[in-house]
Amino acid sequence: MPFTSLGLAPALAQAAAELGFTAPTPIQSEAIPAVLAGHDVLATAQTGSGKTAAYALPLLQRLAQAEPLTPRRVRTLVVVPTRELAAQAGEVVRSLAQHLPRKPKIAVVFGGVSINPQMMALRGGADVVVATPGRLLDLVAHNALRLSAVEHLVLDEADRLLDLGFADELARVLALLPARRQNLFFSATFPNAVQALANGLLREPLRIDVASAPVEEAVILQQAYLVDSKRRTELLRRLIKTHDGQRVLVFVATQYAAERVAAKLHQGDLFATSFHGGLSQGARQQTLDEFKEKRWDVVVTTDLAARGLHIDQLPVVVNYDLPRSPVDYTHRIGRTGRAGESGLAVSFVTPATEAHWRVIEKRQGLSLPLEVLPGFEPTEEAAPALPTQNDGGIKGKRPSKKDKLRAAAVAAAAAGKPD
Ligand code: AMP
Repeated sequence: MPFTSLGLAPALAQAAAELGFTAPTPIQSEAIPAVLAGHDVLATAQTGSGKTAAYALPLLQRLAQAEPLTPRRVRTLVVVPTRELAAQAGEVVRSLAQHLPRKPKIAVVFGGVSINPQMMALRGGADVVVATPGRLLDLVAHNALRLSAVEHLVLDEADRLLDLGFADELARVLALLPARRQNLFFSATFPNAVQALANGLLREPLRIDVASAPVEEAVILQQAYLVDSKRRTELLRRLIKTHDGQRVLVFVATQYAAERVAAKLHQGDLFATSFHGGLSQGARQQTLDEFKEKRWDVVVTTDLAARGLHIDQLPVVVNYDLPRSPVDYTHRIGRTGRAGESGLAVSFVTPATEAHWRVIEKRQGLSLPLEVLPGFEPTEEAAPALPTQNDGGIKGKRPSKKDKLRAAAVAAAAAGKPD
């Protein structure tokens, strides 16, 4: 089915085709006509489902029909949790808009970089602003933009926004928006706090649930190796050599571990570097670009890279440290096997983390043999029965009292305005 049969203008369908999107993904097939018709949308969507184009394409079409901008006015606001996702979503929106007869003005704003160029970019108003919540509020405080005329709001990765502690900022942003607007809500998971936020925001939304059948799930080969904690780097090196010529994304638990493991691999003649929240925004973007350009073979990262990023043809993901939660496991392995390509996700399980691995395995509905590579037979002791500080427990299953209070505040702000 071509994009035009969903009601999209040929200029948008052409731009989509140039990005290699020949046919709509399931979420696009459902969301595009609904957004064009002006409905609110509530979508359970993983990164990899094509959700960015699912909101960008119809919103661009609606903007193309709109009147000229007035100063500092913002028409479409896309709120995202991280700078990387902002840059990435902004890039997709720009590419999709390239053939429109009236080029919409698109601004991408996030913290960690100078605010002045962003203020300049917003001077004459913007058709689309893609923003992280903190910087958005800073720009409002500087009088660089006004949110009172926003017609379309997109919350992308709403669960991540709350996870990262943006509930208060989000409530303040929502309080600045007009009551009459179209709301598009995307989230990979729906814990209570996220559901409460959605309930407060949306009006008779079209519900789209494609999470149960993400395209890439079937093509990710998952493996787990039992290995001593102190021999993981050695095993990792072996694995990287086995997959010579393929890029590898390695997940560890802390920024310190990312630095340490990357340095060890680097000493062993591998093109390895680290990517984590302790680096400057410039350094992060540079590493990401260089990894995409295949200038690094290995990037060692924290959960910062687990969500939202797409790196085409990334065949191998390694959990050097296991993720704290089963949800994070899904996001990490989702970095591979993207857009229908096959991928490999390998988890290192140590005697001390075996019990934690069993929980992840169970929640994922997996049943993987714990493989032991000859020469890597484990000798370390298993973890004591009680949870230790290192295994981190399973987070994110039950909202804490604080989560509930936050969610209530956000929902109240979202619902509190008269229509
Ligand atoms: P997203 O879920 O928006 O992060 O997109 C995931 C990946 O799917 C990106 O690499 C997109 O370029 C790609 N993609 C999005 N829509 C399509 C489509 N209709 N056909 C093929 N690839 C797509």
